[in-house]
Amino acid sequence: MHDDVAIDTDRFRERFEAYAEFGATDAGGLHRLALSDADRRARDRFVEDLRDAGLDVRIDELGNVFGRYEAGDPDAAPVLVGSHLDSQPYGGRFDGQLGVLTALEAVQAIAESPVEPDRPVEVVNWTNEEGTRFQPSMMGSSGYVGYEPVEELLDATDRDGVSVREELERIGYDGDAPCEPPEAGVHSFLELHVEQGPVLDDEGVPVAIVDGVYGLSWLRVTVDGEANHAGPTPMHDRSDALAAATDAIREVNRLPQQLSADAVATVGELAVEPNSINVIPARAEFTVDLRSYDDDAVDRGVERVEAEVAAACDRHGADYEVERVSRHHSLSFSDRVRDAADRGVAAAGVDARHLVSGAGHDAQHLQTLTDAGMLFVPSVDGYTHTEAEYTEWADCVAGARAFAHTALELATEN
Ligand SMILES: [Zn+2]
Repeated sequence: MHDDVAIDTDRFRERFEAYAEFGATDAGGLHRLALSDADRRARDRFVEDLRDAGLDVRIDELGNVFGRYEAGDPDAAPVLVGSHLDSQPYGGRFDGQLGVLTALEAVQAIAESPVEPDRPVEVVNWTNEEGTRFQPSMMGSSGYVGYEPVEELLDATDRDGVSVREELERIGYDGDAPCEPPEAGVHSFLELHVEQGPVLDDEGVPVAIVDGVYGLSWLRVTVDGEANHAGPTPMHDRSDALAAATDAIREVNRLPQQLSADAVATVGELAVEPNSINVIPARAEFTVDLRSYDDDAVDRGVERVEAEVAAACDRHGADYEVERVSRHHSLSFSDRVRDAADRGVAAAGVDARHLVSGAGHDAQHLQTLTDAGMLFVPSVDGYTHTEAEYTEWADCVAGARAFAHTALELATEN
């Protein structure tokens, strides 16, 4: 069915290359922090493209930009499709941007096809997904679904004390529309993104239907020993905070394989006091990021980290504290969207597999509001958040075709 929905590959590619110029780096990456001048230029072009495509443009208080394709019943809940145009510092061209431009191309393809959807379709660019300049990340979608109050998000400041509100005004994206779903609600949300992992590239599969997102726990561990001179103090008479911490860190890195096949653990921060070459460390502080799709595995992992820290500190005569900083449970995307994606991928004639995401995305917030889902395209060698991030153009096209068919399935579903 619907094999008459065709994306315009030339238009899609020209657009992708044009957008990649806004904040382009010498090494072929993208440096386009949220609400920067480069972000403004990308947004300005996006608004222009939405208008050229005949879509009604709406900008909300948080600077989320929507383009609405009026189709079918105007009072029906729209299908929402999109991603984010902001980037990491010296990040890649595909993360976020590909999803926004795929959504726009898909809606244009549907609008140009003879098929008449039963409901409107809206393209969206969510403000500040990356969370590098302003925290929290996934800000625009968070405000939209009511996860965090819009006023608080507008007050968030960057390192220079400049607020989201001030920057939205400065770049002209402090919109009039309320940051909330339409009265009719949202029928469904679909986002395409680069995988940011190696699975699709390893297997040579162009598209993944995303089943869900890993659960995660963040811990902050503080180990207190005793500072003393590195020379005269015998080894048996020390309480070395760093020695205890590194014993525990070694165990943290061994932990995932004992928890589940997909579990990962990372110690990403380490601070030592007094951090002096000839002083036994008095304090060592480190973080643990623990993830799995299996929430039991994450919970067991947290308990195991606490036990390993206790055992290591006991051996070294050190005190410790393990703070549970945050915990997000794993999330499953909607069966309805996954089924639509299975049909869409088949209709597009694209080879696909199912996958779970280890990284967070705007679609997670949307799943709390409506039926949400995602498609992934490959990241060559799994690189992301770096200028080396790359996706073969043929895979971008396969993803866009699968996306257009999936969006149409949702827009014509009863
Ligand atoms: Zn992203």
